[in-house]
Amino acid sequence: MSGTLHHRHPGDGWVECGDHRHWGLHGAAGLFLTRRAPPAPDGTPGAVTDVVLQHRATWSHHGGTWGIPGGAVTPTETPTQGALREAAEEAGLDPAVVRVVGEHVLDHGVWTYTTVLAETIAGARVHVAATDPEGIEVRWVPVAEVSGLDLHPAFGDALPHLLGLLDAAR
Ligand SMILES: [Zn+2]
Repeated sequence: MSGTLHHRHPGDGWVECGDHRHWGLHGAAGLFLTRRAPPAPDGTPGAVTDVVLQHRATWSHHGGTWGIPGGAVTPTETPTQGALREAAEEAGLDPAVVRVVGEHVLDHGVWTYTTVLAETIAGARVHVAATDPEGIEVRWVPVAEVSGLDLHPAFGDALPHLLGLLDAAR
């Protein structure tokens, strides 16, 4: 990407899968971080109330849309490690307050995108903010408001499935 202040990593670069051009020589990963309402008195987990979204800089791929923090995975890290590193760089997120509950992989053959499904640790007050030129804004968005935003197309397509996977993981 072109921003002079952008963090540079091995693995940065474009890949052609045959149908599209994708960012990440070793694939890419993003962090889908959510928080829930408190559990019911009988212990039933609360519903997902909010998700962390990033308003992407206009110069980035699908610029101007909302998606999740993430980027290219390096050759020496797992997709989960890559997603947590990117979320720390782009959103100031402390990985210690995050519990990873699953992964969802979009497979384009030579390139994959791994969505890392995560929740905040119970009781943690998790502050996020844009800390990298790739994001105009990073914030908690109520689930009911997500569909009203101009979403990155791949993220918008996957969103209902991702929310279903989170509930299945409980
Ligand atoms: Zn593709």
